[in-house]
Amino acid sequence: LSLVAERLNVVRPSETKAMTARAAELRDQGVDVITLSQGEPDFDTPSAVCEAGIRAISDGRTKYAAVAGIKPLREAIRDSFGREHGLDYSIDQITVGCGAKQVVFNALFATLDPGDEAVIPTPCWVSYPDMVALAGGRPTLVACDEFHGLKLRPEALEAAITPRTKWLMLNSPCNPTDSVYSRGELLALAAVLRRHAHVHVLSDDIYEKLTYTGDFATMAAVAPDLYRRTLTVNGMSKADAMTGWRVGYGAGPLALIKAMNLIQGQTSSHTSSISQYAAIEALSGGRDHIEEFASAFLQRRDIVVAKLNQAEGLSCLVPDGAFYVFPSCAGVIGKRTPAGKVIETDTDFAMYLLEDFAVAVVPGSGFMASPYIRISYASSLEDLTRACDRIIAACAALS
Ligand code: PLP
Repeated sequence: LSLVAERLNVVRPSETKAMTARAAELRDQGVDVITLSQGEPDFDTPSAVCEAGIRAISDGRTKYAAVAGIKPLREAIRDSFGREHGLDYSIDQITVGCGAKQVVFNALFATLDPGDEAVIPTPCWVSYPDMVALAGGRPTLVACDEFHGLKLRPEALEAAITPRTKWLMLNSPCNPTDSVYSRGELLALAAVLRRHAHVHVLSDDIYEKLTYTGDFATMAAVAPDLYRRTLTVNGMSKADAMTGWRVGYGAGPLALIKAMNLIQGQTSSHTSSISQYAAIEALSGGRDHIEEFASAFLQRRDIVVAKLNQAEGLSCLVPDGAFYVFPSCAGVIGKRTPAGKVIETDTDFAMYLLEDFAVAVVPGSGFMASPYIRISYASSLEDLTRACDRIIAACAALS
């Protein structure tokens, strides 16, 4: 009898974590590895936010709290949805979890019966297909092409929907492609969704504040008639540099939020009360740090894209948001390394970059799209420049 449950057979090992682990091993051996595989800002949490956390501890706010999240935080979230998107949620329609990750998982676990489907445009965030499968559902992966900015087309959505489709999972700006859906693109998808009343939208807006085109749009606001069918997810990790604090939130139909809270009540109960007080400060304070972070990311993006497009065999779209670039490495497939190994996949290429040039990136296969690599530019300009030079040299060394 196996100790580990069969249900875990559907979960793939995380490629991001595998790369990070190998990079750490090499570093322990004294190799100067530059890690561009991490999905977190290199900035510190703003000091006012940290102070709010410290204050929460000194004030004794260290006990169990409400499962859905403390009331003042849900009020701050409600206000921010209203202020920024004209979205009107009551605090009962808001749930706070241990990061956006738990919120997404709760939503899927609360809704997917065996055989139910979730449409996931690919490339997609590594966790979506596994979370859907773990919840008992079936991920319907829909490949998006570069010609359309790696974004889901309405006709592809129409073709992917079946009577068992419960969710369309949208992520804009997208990890890993950094593509941003415009208002018009969302409206075109909304037109399809109107014909299929049984499909709900999970809009993962975690990179909202890191949109460089200035026209971030979210489904519940763009298509008010779909508000009742949309769960809008966001969180503090990315734009507020609070990855370790573990605060994410979702807002949507009351019945769904109640079901999600039921799961949370029997699993984590709630995220740390201290983190929740810190999140209030992040959401309600000036949030000036976001502008600072976004302009630093924008500068790095331009340098990284320009450099990567000099690398033989790589081609890189200019991304519109987040802090990743997702160059195609189709031009290196089939080439030979100096050691004589043929690069057959993007995983081979990522391994070659790590083992021979000490740069850690994530292969596109982890994001259900090949042949690509994902590079995070949430690192210092100096490291990014050194890493890009190594990548250029690595490509030039192939024959
Ligand atoms: N959604 C996307 C698209 C992400 O890239 C991430 C983190 O990498 C998350 C959600 C989860 O963020 P967190 O759980 O830290 O809020």
